[in-house]
Amino acid sequence: MNDEQLLRYSRHILLPEIDIAGQAAICAARVLVVGAGGLGSPAALYLASAGVGTLVLADGDEVDLTNLQRQILHTQASVRQPKVVSGERALRALNPEIEIVALHARLEGAALDQEVAKADVVLDCCDNFATRHAVNRACVRFRKPLVSGAAIRFDGQISVFDLRRDGAPCYHCLFPEGESLEELRCAVTGVFAPLTGIVGATQAAEALKLLAGCGEALVGRLLLLDALAMRWREVRYPRDPSCSVCQVTAT
Ligand SMILES: [Zn+2]
Repeated sequence: MNDEQLLRYSRHILLPEIDIAGQAAICAARVLVVGAGGLGSPAALYLASAGVGTLVLADGDEVDLTNLQRQILHTQASVRQPKVVSGERALRALNPEIEIVALHARLEGAALDQEVAKADVVLDCCDNFATRHAVNRACVRFRKPLVSGAAIRFDGQISVFDLRRDGAPCYHCLFPEGESLEELRCAVTGVFAPLTGIVGATQAAEALKLLAGCGEALVGRLLLLDALAMRWREVRYPRDPSCSVCQVTAT
């Protein structure tokens, strides 16, 4: 790290749990953020400010006026622009020394595989089950840690699936595909603005801990926030031995 980096990241380096080695690992890392909306905005801002070396931001949407209530990567001037263009501009202004890769697409198929394979950590900041399950399958296939977040109305949830570890549960173990989980869209149900910030920032925290190799990851634990009562709950969950996603690829 050069002198300017030592200054920029000094408050991380001062933490013995991170230190120079942890910050160097963060600076050398490549992180994939799927979704540049309510969760991806705060997550990407913290990952960029903390110096993640290469930040890949993937989103197929354009900024809409209704996004600005919570999607803090974007400004009034970004309306109708691709979210990744707007996001890249904000992240570059925040930290010009990191590399930002802006992918204007809903990642799927081979493109999703390719990006997951190259990433050190993947953040699922999307808003639909189809993408969540596709990202999980790719993370299982390439054994990449997945930091998952969701926010709707006043309810948030976060968990980490460290698929590098043998026997670690995957997203599908917790939320099996095809179960009659009602897909709630914030376009219909609404979402409390700071809730997306709390969940997205928590995802960034878990990603940085995984990269720096410090603390205890949120693995096998689902963190639930009721922002209306401002109460957190933690639910432990095991791997599903009959999970159709992680069972077949496990050794
Ligand atoms: Zn599984």
